[in-house]
Amino acid sequence: MTPLLTIRGIHSFYGKIEALKGIDLQVHEGEIVALLGSNGAGKSTTLKTISGIVRPSSGDVLLHGQSLVGWAPHQIVEAGIIHVPEGRRIFAGLTVRENLELGGFTQRKEKAAIAEGIEQAFALFPRLKERSEQMGGTLSGGEQQMLAICRGLMARPKLLMLDEPSMGLAPIIVVEIMNIIREINRQGTTILLIEQNAKAALKLAHRGYVMETGRIVMENKADVLRADDTIVKAYLGA
Ligand code: ATP
Repeated sequence: MTPLLTIRGIHSFYGKIEALKGIDLQVHEGEIVALLGSNGAGKSTTLKTISGIVRPSSGDVLLHGQSLVGWAPHQIVEAGIIHVPEGRRIFAGLTVRENLELGGFTQRKEKAAIAEGIEQAFALFPRLKERSEQMGGTLSGGEQQMLAICRGLMARPKLLMLDEPSMGLAPIIVVEIMNIIREINRQGTTILLIEQNAKAALKLAHRGYVMETGRIVMENKADVLRADDTIVKAYLGA
């Protein structure tokens, strides 16, 4: 079966710095795939290349076999790939509800469909429902992360890419976010997840890739990566 997402031989540069040195990666429909590795390994650049923010110098990004290279970021969103970047970036001066409405803008043209999406988001995150009229900027870090994820879901993505959703959050909130990511996947959304917290990510993911200085150095089922102490020590910061 054609994978949902295929990345083939991607090289990406920032000026003269080669951040990605030939990346190959696949995500199949229904999977959670974890992208792991130390700071500066190229994980964020991989997501940025998929979402069209960074243009690769060579290689291909395919969605259901169709090449997306050269597409504008908004066209890639419309094709069904949503990128929730590091650091959340919700609209601080808009309410929770308004943030969600904006997330649904591209794919859900009708009011009723947007309202339905908001209800689905509130069912996943009851805490957002309680705060629906509160300004985004007044939410806690964990709540802002929940809002950023929900805003992404409003577009009904084929692929949801999350860049370090647990960053800077208390351990108890990390558990909550991870459980919700699992639930979102159970409900049918395919997920590509970057995490510094490799152990937590591998509990959730079906498969994982480990990156080091612009290359994939390992790929396996999540339970295999998790069980191998040398891998955990060498690459996963444990
Ligand atoms: P982190 O977890 O620290 O975000 P990462 O694995 O996501 O790490 P990237 O952010 O993809 O790594 O960075 C890969 C390499 O590209 C690093 O060497 C980084 O310094 C460099 N880099 C990233 N963004 C830029 C930029 N805008 N301009 C120049 N170099 C960049």
